[in-house]
Amino acid sequence: MRTQVGIIGAGPAGLMLAHLLHRSGIESVVIESRSRDYVEQRIRAGVLEQGTVDLLNETGVGERMQRQGLVHAGIDLRFGGRSRRIAFDELTGKHVVVYGQHEVVKDLIAARVRDGAQMFFDVTGTAVADLESDRPVVRFRDANGEPVELVCDFIAGCDGFHGICRPAIPEGVLSVYDRIYPFAWLGILAESKPVQDELIYANHERGFTLISLRSPTITRMYLQCDPEENIDEWPDERIWDEIRARLAGEDAPDLVPGPVIQKGVTAMRSYVVEPMQYGKLFLAGDSAHIVPPTGAKGMNLAIADVKVLAEAFDAFYGRGDSGRLAAYSETCLRRIWKTQRFSWWMTSMLHRFEGGAFDHRVQLAELDYVTTSRAASTTLAENYVGLPFE
Ligand SMILES: Cc1cc2nc3c(=O)[nH]c(=O)nc-3n(C[C@H](O)[C@H](O)[C@H](O)COP(=O)(O)OP(=O)(O)OC[C@H]3O[C@@H](n4cnc5c(N)ncnc54)[C@H](O)[C@@H]3O)c2cc1C
Repeated sequence: MRTQVGIIGAGPAGLMLAHLLHRSGIESVVIESRSRDYVEQRIRAGVLEQGTVDLLNETGVGERMQRQGLVHAGIDLRFGGRSRRIAFDELTGKHVVVYGQHEVVKDLIAARVRDGAQMFFDVTGTAVADLESDRPVVRFRDANGEPVELVCDFIAGCDGFHGICRPAIPEGVLSVYDRIYPFAWLGILAESKPVQDELIYANHERGFTLISLRSPTITRMYLQCDPEENIDEWPDERIWDEIRARLAGEDAPDLVPGPVIQKGVTAMRSYVVEPMQYGKLFLAGDSAHIVPPTGAKGMNLAIADVKVLAEAFDAFYGRGDSGRLAAYSETCLRRIWKTQRFSWWMTSMLHRFEGGAFDHRVQLAELDYVTTSRAASTTLAENYVGLPFE
C-alpha cells in the first residue's frame, strides 16, 4: 500500500491530523491497535480550550459539541475553607467547553467514515522502518492477521506515550526532560448531579481534590493519592467521605453521592522529548510529551501539535515549501514548554507536598494572591483558556 502520510494512533492527535489533511486534499491512512469501540469509550480528558473548540467548529466536526458541550466561563479555587472564582470571560473574553475526549474521538471517526478515508483498527505488530529514507514504511498485521506494508512519504507518530514511534528513534537523538510527581490522582466517574456548574480545584491539608463533570447528570472527581494506591481499598463510601472532608468549610458544596461507574489511578508526570522529529517521522501529542492533568492540557496540546503539522504538510504538498516541516519541532516546543510550565505551576500550587506546614502556608499565600490580584488571575485565566496556537 502507498499513502502520503501514515498515521499511527487513533487518539485525538492522529484523528485530528487525518481530518485536517483530508480537508487539504492530502491522503493518509490511520492505524490503531485498539478496536473502534474501545477508543470511542475510553474516558480521559474533558476540558477543551477555546482554540480547540474553534478548530473543531471551523473544520466541521463541532456540531455535537455545540449541542452537548458545557460552556464554562470560570473555575473556583478553593482553599482555607472558602471558594474564590477566576472569571475567564471577564478576564480574557474567552471560555472553555467541557466535552469528553472520547466524544471528540467519536466525532472525528464519524467524519473519517463519512469521508470514505482509510482506517485500520485492531492492528497488531506495528513497526516503522527506513525513517531516514524517502520511502519510510509502516508494517503491521490487520484485524484478520494479514501482514500489511504501508509505504509513505511521511509518518506521524500519534501513538501516545507507550507507542512504538518514539522508541524507534535511534538512541542519542532525543533529549528527554522528565519530572515524576510523588503523588497520583484517584479518579471517579459517578452518576450524580454535579455540585455546581463549574470546576472546583481544592487545596486541602489532606490533599488536592478536583470536582469536575461530564454532563448535567455525570460527575467526574479526582483525589490526590499515593502513586501505589490500591484501588480496592477505596470503596465508594470512602471516596465520597474523603472528597467531603477535602471540601469542608464555609459554603461547602453539597455533595450528592451516586453510583460510581468508573474508578482508576492516574500517575502524574511532566515529560518532553526534543526534537519531535527524526528523518521522515514526526511525533505529535502524548508520544512526545506528557503533562500532569491539573491544567487540563493533554488533549489540547495534542490538537495544537497536529494543527501545526497539518499546516506544514499543506505548505509542503501545496507549494513545495519544506521550511515549515523543518521548523515543526521548534514551533511546537515553544508553546509546549509554556503549557508545561502552567501545568507544573498549577500542580505545585494545589497539591500537598512533603514540605510540611511552611510549604502549605506559601501555597495559601499564592492562592490568595492569584485570586485577589487582577494581574495574577488574568495570568491563570489566559493559560487555562489556552495560549494562542503558534
Ligand atoms: C488515564 C488517563 C486520564 C487522563 N485524563 C486527563 C484529563 O482529565 N485531562 C487532560 O487534559 N488530560 C488527560 N489525560 C491526557 C490526555 O487524555 C492525552 O493527553 C491525550 O489522549 C493525548 O492524545 P494523543 O492522541 O496524543 O494520544 P492517545 O490518546 O494516547 O492516542 C494514542 C493512540 O495510539 C494507539 N497506539 C498505541 N500504540 C500503537 C501501536 N503500536 N500501533 C497502533 N496504534 C497504537 C493507542 O491505542 C491510542 O489510541 C489523561 C490520560 C490518561 C492516560
